[in-house]
Amino acid sequence: MVRVDLSRRAVLAGAASGVLLAAGGARAQGAPLNVVATTAHVGDLVRNVGGDRVRVANLLGEGVDPHSYRLTRSDTAQLMRADVVAYNGLLLEGKMTDALVRVASAGKTVFAVADALPEELLIAPPETEGSFDPHVWMDVKNWIAAAGVVRDRLSARDPAGAAAYAANAARHVAELEVLDAYARRVLGAVPETARVLITAHDAFNYLGRAYGLEVRGIQGISTESEAGLREIEGLVDLLVARRIGAAFVESSVTDRNVRALVEGAAARGHKVAIGGELYSDALGAPGTYEGTYIGMMDHNLTTIARALGGEAPVAGHLGRLAQAR
Ligand SMILES: [Zn+2]
Repeated sequence: MVRVDLSRRAVLAGAASGVLLAAGGARAQGAPLNVVATTAHVGDLVRNVGGDRVRVANLLGEGVDPHSYRLTRSDTAQLMRADVVAYNGLLLEGKMTDALVRVASAGKTVFAVADALPEELLIAPPETEGSFDPHVWMDVKNWIAAAGVVRDRLSARDPAGAAAYAANAARHVAELEVLDAYARRVLGAVPETARVLITAHDAFNYLGRAYGLEVRGIQGISTESEAGLREIEGLVDLLVARRIGAAFVESSVTDRNVRALVEGAAARGHKVAIGGELYSDALGAPGTYEGTYIGMMDHNLTTIARALGGEAPVAGHLGRLAQAR
């Protein structure tokens, strides 16, 4: 199993050079911790748990694919200026790992939320040869566990804030519990024969496991792998044989393969609709409801449930989804 525990390395590197406690020395008394997160998911979690004790910047914006993203020189400079660097891990940020190791060995607090989850929460698909599926946020229960990771890491870095982090985490977890219950309710209402989720890449295995859907991505776990004609043909067979009526596109991945699938099924006399656009590895626009973790999941759950014949309010579980307007 491949797990790169940068956080532990960072602690070791910091302790060895005696800079661990001094790392925040440049920060003014009472000023918020300057946190840089890779994905907007991780940034949102740190913002919720950190509250006003943190100031969070995300490296990856709306619609950006973390599997293929390479850090720019200014990203690296931003990482080196941060007090804390938070990332997903489990090789989601496949092209950034070297830079994150460098930042960690410079004595920064660097931690990965997914790497720190207990193994029993993780999925190790046979085709990834021993590494875990990094898309852990698609199961809300996993994200609840991740909130605990962030609370503990921030508290270790800033012990004076421990009570605030614990209170913030508890409040956010309560919101996530409501979201998880909504997921169970609306996806539970999808008819048995329609419980198949076909997407552009394999980002939804955790969602499928948690909420009882069979999940098939056209590309693999990483968008770095190419989907072959044979994969597309195989999925067309499945769509036709099972009379599956919808496939989904993703905001951070090209829709080319999904459209090929729809055309392939149409050529065999079976109509497949595009069930909507899902957020897989990026959130919606900053400042919008869909730009938060809860809004993103609400959008996905509501879109999937409605397209597959379940029942869900068009405006989602809090009445806030943009698609209703
Ligand atoms: Zn992905």
